Amino acid sequence: MQELEQAIAEIKTALPGMKLMEHEPLSAHCSFRIGGPARAIAVPGDMTSLTKLCAILKRHGLMPLMLGNGTNLLFPDEGLDNVLLLSTEKLQKLYRMPGERIYAEAGVPLTRLAAFAQQNGLKGLEFASGIPGTVGGGLRMNAGAYGGEMKDAVESVVYLYLPEQALYEMPRENCDFGYRGSIFSRYGGFAIVSAVFQLQPGDKNEIAASMRALNDKRREKQPLDLPSAGSAFKRPEGHFAAALIDEAGLKGLRIGGAQVSEKHAGFVVNAGGACAKDVVELLQEVRARVYAKSGIVLEPEIVVLPADYTLRDTSPADTGNRVTVSEEMPSPRGEGVIRRPPQAE
Ligand SMILES: Cc1cc2nc3c(=O)[nH]c(=O)nc-3n(C[C@H](O)[C@H](O)[C@H](O)COP(=O)(O)OP(=O)(O)OC[C@H]3O[C@@H](n4cnc5c(N)ncnc54)[C@H](O)[C@@H]3O)c2cc1C
Repeated sequence: MQELEQAIAEIKTALPGMKLMEHEPLSAHCSFRIGGPARAIAVPGDMTSLTKLCAILKRHGLMPLMLGNGTNLLFPDEGLDNVLLLSTEKLQKLYRMPGERIYAEAGVPLTRLAAFAQQNGLKGLEFASGIPGTVGGGLRMNAGAYGGEMKDAVESVVYLYLPEQALYEMPRENCDFGYRGSIFSRYGGFAIVSAVFQLQPGDKNEIAASMRALNDKRREKQPLDLPSAGSAFKRPEGHFAAALIDEAGLKGLRIGGAQVSEKHAGFVVNAGGACAKDVVELLQEVRARVYAKSGIVLEPEIVVLPADYTLRDTSPADTGNRVTVSEEMPSPRGEGVIRRPPQAE
């Protein structure tokens, strides 16, 4: 792809100090340990280089694919040679703000954010202490566990709206958070760069104990010893995906190296040498059999890339994870353009 090659050449000249991994195996950048080579993964060290990078891409008519910890993604076996991945790995600023508030950049792991809140005697993020994603990835899909969700703790989100190359701050109420989704997952063009969390004062020991209890539960129930991307399917209203899969007799079902976990039917694991094709075929098989047994359509929670890899034609509903920049999108603007992140206390 000529535009991408031109953009990469320009990026190397304009941002010589920025980490740029070329022909990098995607399997090394996701928790599934699956995926062929990426043409390039850029790792901007700060907001300035992130903005410059996105401006170069825009000039070439390209949008980056945002990458957090890769814990909710399935990359294709043939790799991604037509898109530049933008990793938030180095966006790691994390500090306490006045009151019970915390500022965190997009690349901060949720485990680190939750630990920081606990150390500051702030409660409200205990649920996130075992979720292996980042602030950016977690906000995009409104990650949640054990009754808590990102939407309960976040006050506002700062993002670069890529089509306009402008930074906006969106208050929580406008983020359209729903079950495992938000405005950032429903429409394309958002690069989340940071967020402010509003928490409540709490006892450090009690918060730590609650985090330990949740993580014990997670270790007991989930197949954390095998590579996966977490729950394979969203919870259908009024049901649990794992129970439906179990009731359809699919625990342990295997295609190639991909397997419905023996320990937790809601997880598809890489039981050894799985490729993306195995996982997609298994997801399709599970959906078809659950639909045949219960009449319920399971919607994937895992983001399957590229978009045309999505799970089509396996049931009456097309529930692919496709994302487009849409004309009908509600205003991407939050409460006006922000020019600098909020200051530390
Ligand atoms: C063992 C295991 C347990 C899990 N448990 C849970 C759980 O309890 N609850 C839960 O909700 N999830 C869980 N997950 C799934 C996953 O950790 C979450 O979905 C997490 O929020 C994904 O974050 P990430 O940084 O890894 O995102 P990635 O996988 O890197 O990306 C996911 C999506 O977000 C986009 N994205 C990433 N960063 C940004 C950004 N800065 N701006 C815009 N878009 C971005 C990507 O383009 C992609 O579309 C689990 C996963 C595993 C492997």
